Amino acid sequence: MLASPSAEVLTDRLRRAVSAAAAADVDALLVTPGADLRYLVGYDAIPLERLTCLVVPASGEPVLVVPRLEEAAAEASGAGAVVKVQTHDETDDAFAVVAGLLGDALGERISRVALADRMWAEQVLRFREVLPAAEQITAGRVLRALRLRKTPDEVAGLRQAGRAIDEVHQRMGEWLRPGRRELDVGRDIAQAIADAGHRRVNFVIVASGPNAASPHHDLSDRVIEAGDPVVVDIGGTMPDGYCSDCTRTYVAGGEPDPEFTRYYAVLLEAQQRACDAVRPGVTAESVDAAARDVITAAGYGPAFLHRTGHGIGLEEHEEPWIVSGNDTVLEPGMCFSIEPGIYLAGRHGARIEDIVAVTDDGVERLDTIDRELVVLHAPGDPVLG
Ligand code: ZN
Ligand code: ZN
Ligand code: ZN
Repeated sequence: MLASPSAEVLTDRLRRAVSAAAAADVDALLVTPGADLRYLVGYDAIPLERLTCLVVPASGEPVLVVPRLEEAAAEASGAGAVVKVQTHDETDDAFAVVAGLLGDALGERISRVALADRMWAEQVLRFREVLPAAEQITAGRVLRALRLRKTPDEVAGLRQAGRAIDEVHQRMGEWLRPGRRELDVGRDIAQAIADAGHRRVNFVIVASGPNAASPHHDLSDRVIEAGDPVVVDIGGTMPDGYCSDCTRTYVAGGEPDPEFTRYYAVLLEAQQRACDAVRPGVTAESVDAAARDVITAAGYGPAFLHRTGHGIGLEEHEEPWIVSGNDTVLEPGMCFSIEPGIYLAGRHGARIEDIVAVTDDGVERLDTIDRELVVLHAPGDPVLG
């Protein structure tokens, strides 16, 4: 298992965040629990009503403000090695504490603060009260460039996450078969996601038969029938914070609808073309087009009803978005999903998803298990399909 980033790596990230903030004319970053906080100081804090906030002034010392009862957790994360930790008590106004720290560091000069993208609205409004002169922008605008290009260590984290989730897919025949409910299959998969080394199970989609036509179906008590296509999209978070996300479509015993078999072949080709299109210098939207053109040419264009992919890292969904209209130029270290799908409402659907990393001269797939259609039979099942 990879260790969390070293104090050296975190200190460097903080330093780069400060220069990015300065370049964006931001006087301070205010980072509440979430991926940005973990990225900058290694603290995987739980978002709660008491304020935990990393205060990074454009000049002066960064401070991690935490409720006293979470001081031990903050220290245990190692954040104390890279940033001063300051506690507040139950009766303190934590927002005033932050404003005071900024006043000490910057004096009157606080005209713009960048707030963590996922900060709770009630906290955003409290910061507006205590810093009335400060324009609020999202920290993503400042931190985007840092998090978008992964370092080799971060890619290694995603590679390890990919291996772990691939392991779960490889065991699918143990659980997925006709006669079982999606819910029961999902429970087994969740256990296997944890067993494979994930710290958290982020989602388990088992979408069988007509449910497979809903891309974000999760689990239901529908009993899987013989010949059902079943979309299984699963992901979790590894101990180092990096996420996995991989989809395979299976057939649970029996013979699927011939049309399903036909468009599955189209989908497989679309996914391959999109992966082949990935390299430094091409745009995100060109990768989307590579998948979409194949599906459209086969007459299923309207059935591919979502973008081709999303970035992944410390969050399951982050930039870059692999979507028409996004002219972001791919660079080495960017990591994202390639997950075209075809969905026929009321009937069935399919999706194939791998995480890929842009390398110096091309692409590396971080999910490497077979993508050919797999028909699963229960052990000893006499049915052959
Ligand atoms: Zn999704
Ligand atoms: Zn997925
Ligand atoms: Zn995905």
